Amino acid sequence: MTFKRYHIPIAPAPSRRPWTRVNVHRDLSRCLNCGTCIDSCLYGVHDRRDADTRFMEEPEDHLCRVCFRCVAECPVNALSLEPNVEFTEAGNGLFKPEVLRTIANEAEGGRIPVTGACYRGPFGGQGFDGMWTDMSEIVRPTRDGIHGREYISTSVDVGARPTFLDFRRGGPWTPPRELPVPFVLDVANPGAPPAGILASVVKAAKALDTYAIVPARSWPAVGADLQGHVIVRLSEGETTGFEKTAGVEATYRHGGADLVGLRRSLPHSIVSLRVPVTAYDRDAVDMALEAGVDLIHYTADWKDVDSIDGVNTYIATLRDLHGYLVDRAVRDTITVLASGPIAAAEHVPKTIILGADLVGVDLALYGVMECVPPNHALHLGRFPEDFPLSDVPWGTQRVVNLMNAWRDQLLEILGAMGMREVRRLRGDMGRAIFQDEAEREAFADIKVLAPAKEVVAR
Ligand code: SF4
Ligand code: SF4
Repeated sequence: MTFKRYHIPIAPAPSRRPWTRVNVHRDLSRCLNCGTCIDSCLYGVHDRRDADTRFMEEPEDHLCRVCFRCVAECPVNALSLEPNVEFTEAGNGLFKPEVLRTIANEAEGGRIPVTGACYRGPFGGQGFDGMWTDMSEIVRPTRDGIHGREYISTSVDVGARPTFLDFRRGGPWTPPRELPVPFVLDVANPGAPPAGILASVVKAAKALDTYAIVPARSWPAVGADLQGHVIVRLSEGETTGFEKTAGVEATYRHGGADLVGLRRSLPHSIVSLRVPVTAYDRDAVDMALEAGVDLIHYTADWKDVDSIDGVNTYIATLRDLHGYLVDRAVRDTITVLASGPIAAAEHVPKTIILGADLVGVDLALYGVMECVPPNHALHLGRFPEDFPLSDVPWGTQRVVNLMNAWRDQLLEILGAMGMREVRRLRGDMGRAIFQDEAEREAFADIKVLAPAKEVVAR
């Protein structure tokens, strides 16, 4: 058998409502139509009118990278840049305007975004910003890059990985399913999607060779050829009729969810226990282990991670979940899928370091599908209702593109860490420094000196 390198088929899927960071304003009472700004701008914001080349066309604001070169070089100061309020007020929580714009750009072309004007984000903070990853190998990159001969594997397993052979149990054993990417598309978390978005996401799951989690009430709309890529999230009381799907997911509630019965009725399907951060306790983990389910799907509703305290709780709880499985020496008997606050490519390795085997991409799908209006979509927590089926190829390609951009960034990070497979990153806390812990450690023994003015007064 010949070796075939995993490849994600990216293609252009242009944004229809491109994010515009600034409005480029040309004062027509001053403009000389000299065309200097056409040469100043590397990004094609300025041009002449097709119909009459003596005059300048309206600037294409969405292409502007805010470098101010045209503003500086205009001989009569006719140009100015103003923040676009629709952009600055978009999104919430982790899905800030720049994050939404980055998602849209990644979905558009499938490439790693390059700002070209150095990193302008924070170097520390709370939540994921308070986690610094080990890049010690970045000074010694692979000989020929992340796509070269030194293959870096992004494959992960779903299901128990036996650490020894057990002949006592008998019966058929279902080996873990190998996914080529550590991503599952969770279209059930943002709500009940319209048929077009559902079809786009499930088709993207097939193209990526992974799974899409869909709500049970949307399930009948999924075509027969896609059923093997679907995990159905059950509503309360539903247990049968999903034999042809890849799996099912029940939601954890204290004393509820007949997981053992579900496991028995679907011995070869993926059975997942969805555990929202607000309901998490170690009983949920015990319940999942006892029933022999394949997945614990640890997740958060957007409202739970809307504040930085919510994200900190999410992180602490994921660490607890992983630590508990390690302490019980059962970490390889179950897979942990973490979804919710995964808003950017950097959150993927960080979530895996915290203990997840793979991540669920859910709320980011709003950004991919250009929810309308974009500045309210996340607040409302729903997809737009009108998404015609003719848009499905476009929607599918955008999801595929986003996943390629995130996978490439994961490969870059793994390469910079000197790691050859993402499986090894799971729960490897030594690969991260937690800012608050590091500061406590560094400054714990330092005595607070008297304020400077007191010293002077003495
Ligand atoms: S450089 Fe200034 S004056 Fe010349 S075309 Fe541009 S805006 Fe008008
Ligand atoms: S500010 Fe820079 S990117 Fe924006 S229009 Fe002017 S030259 Fe182009």
